[in-house]
Amino acid sequence: MLPSTLDELIEALRCLPGVGPKSAQRMAYHLLQRDQRGAGRLATALQKSLAVLRHCERCNTFTESQICERCASTQRDASLLCVVEMPADLAMIEQTQAYNGLYYVLMGRLSPLDGIGPRELKLDKLLARASDGVVREVILATNFTNEGEATAHTISELLTARGLHASRLSRGVPVGGELEHTDSGTIAQALVERRAL
Ligand code: ZN
Repeated sequence: MLPSTLDELIEALRCLPGVGPKSAQRMAYHLLQRDQRGAGRLATALQKSLAVLRHCERCNTFTESQICERCASTQRDASLLCVVEMPADLAMIEQTQAYNGLYYVLMGRLSPLDGIGPRELKLDKLLARASDGVVREVILATNFTNEGEATAHTISELLTARGLHASRLSRGVPVGGELEHTDSGTIAQALVERRAL
C-alpha cells in the first residue's frame, strides 16, 4: 500500500495529457527523490499561474490583466481579426511580421469526438468580439487538419449569417498542416493570398 499522500500526488499527475498510471508514478518518484527543488518550483509556478492568469477579455489568450498588451496597443490594425487555435499559432503568425491586425485565440478547436462543440469553445465570445463594429475582416487561421478545417467552416457560417466578412489562409499551408510546424515564409504567403469565404 502506498501512503495516501503519495497516492494523491500520482493521481494528480494523471491530469496531464497522455500520462497514465505508470508514467505518473515515475514522475512522482523523480520529483520527490531526484528533484525536490524542481518540484517546489513547479508547485509554486502552478499556484501562481492559477491565481494570476486569466483570459484576455478581447482576444481570449492568457494574460495577467483584463486586456492584454497586444489588444490594448494603438499600433495595431483593429479592422483585422485573425482567429487561431492556440497561443503557439499566434506566436507563429507574429513571427512572420506580415500581419499587424489583432487576434482571437480559440484555446482549442471543434472536436465532436472529445465533446468539444461550439458551446464548449465559447464561439459566442468570438462572435461578440467580431461584431464590435470595428472589425471588417475575420481571417480564419485554424490548422489545415480535419478538425481545424471543420472549425473554420463552422465559424465562417456563423460570421456570414451575421453579415461579417470571413477569409481563410490560402492553401500554401499543406493539407493536414499545423501552423506550429510551418515555416514563417509559407505562413506569410498564405496570409497575403488569403481568400474570401
Ligand atoms: Zn488580448
